Amino acid sequence: MIEILTIGDELISGKTLDENAHYIAAALHAQGFIISRITSVGDGIENICRALRDRLPDTRFMVITGGLGPTDDDRTAQAAAKAFGTSCVLHPDALSAMERAYAALGRTMPEAARKQALLPQGSILIPNPVGTACGFCITHDGVEFIFLPGVPEEVRAMTEGFVINHVRTISGSPGYVLTKQLTLFGLWESGIKERLTGRLPDSTIVTVGYYPQFPDVTISITGRGLDVDLVRHEVEQYEAVIMQYLGPYVYATTGERLEEIVGRLLLERTATLAVAESCTGGLITHRLTNVPGSSAYLERAYIVYSNRAKHELLAVPEDLIERYGAVSEQVARSMAIGARGYARTTYGLAVTGIAGPSGGNAEKPVGTVFVGIASDKGCEVVRYRFSGSREKIKIITAHTALNALRLLLLTGTIPQHTATGI
Ligand code: AMP
Ligand code: MG
Repeated sequence: MIEILTIGDELISGKTLDENAHYIAAALHAQGFIISRITSVGDGIENICRALRDRLPDTRFMVITGGLGPTDDDRTAQAAAKAFGTSCVLHPDALSAMERAYAALGRTMPEAARKQALLPQGSILIPNPVGTACGFCITHDGVEFIFLPGVPEEVRAMTEGFVINHVRTISGSPGYVLTKQLTLFGLWESGIKERLTGRLPDSTIVTVGYYPQFPDVTISITGRGLDVDLVRHEVEQYEAVIMQYLGPYVYATTGERLEEIVGRLLLERTATLAVAESCTGGLITHRLTNVPGSSAYLERAYIVYSNRAKHELLAVPEDLIERYGAVSEQVARSMAIGARGYARTTYGLAVTGIAGPSGGNAEKPVGTVFVGIASDKGCEVVRYRFSGSREKIKIITAHTALNALRLLLLTGTIPQHTATGI
């Protein structure tokens, strides 16, 4: 088990986002190692000392970043010496490595930097290929402590160049690790739990994580072990069970975004698209045009916010808007057909809805949205009911519209399940 400890007042005051913990954890996790805890403390010697001593029982490694600079607020080496009951001594190799690093920059080493060569007795030097401050490691009480500077660029270089290999050399290979990521839309975590309860087999090899990232949920299946075939088999078994119960909601197994999938499907069919957006104000088009090469299938988009725009640009009949309202199945249909007709495209995708916070009524509350897709087979419209802030309703509407188009391209229709469960 590995712990990560990041040091710096800037981290615990919220001024600086902890990039180092994020990076080191991801790099070691990807190699199959298990991170049991991430801790951050300020620059005070006592705090650092306590954090070095207070370890989880099965911790074998602690990777520490920060506090190795020349200024008075960098006290990690001193704190380490204190925690391990030793003292800091001048490390000649550290001194010469620093002199070389300064020389490579065409500078002479400032006197203040000598402090950085004062390391706890028994330290082994870790070279820093991109900066002047060395790292060091020291074994104490059966735990390998690996100290790195705080600068994220240096942490990245030293993790790649030293930490991963060092951990591997001492602990042996963690074995094989396989991760599968399924991206779902249309169910919240509670709906996922309801459908999966009691369905997943027991395993000591596989762990499953659920990560909501509005409006999607990512399910991550991770298998670890020494037997490659067994890990693969169990991960596949989990994936099959999850697909059996949640399949219609899973839109990606490779991390592909909806706009990329839609783009790929349109390209494969040499089909073209026109978009008509009311309540999303261009968000769908923004997402589609974020994909390089989208001009091959996106012909144009209409932002038709007012009734007049719907009528003038898409020939939505005025009396239709008057009779049924701008947010209605009839108007969504007319917008989709109008966009497709004027743009002469294979598909016309239209959305109209009430993003709120006002404008709703009993029959059509805030969050009511209609998505219409016109093609040579006619026009399908689905009614949705979302909730949340104005921005959230816009985001989920754009997501739903892209997903509806994806499903229509794949199956020829927009399944009704997309209208429920969310
Ligand atoms: P230090 O080695 O503590 O002097 O850190 C040098 C600089 O690196 C700090 O001033 C921060 O800007 C940055 N830094 C230190 N630790 C982190 C961290 N965990 N995440 C992101 N930046 C950091
Ligand atoms: Mg610092």
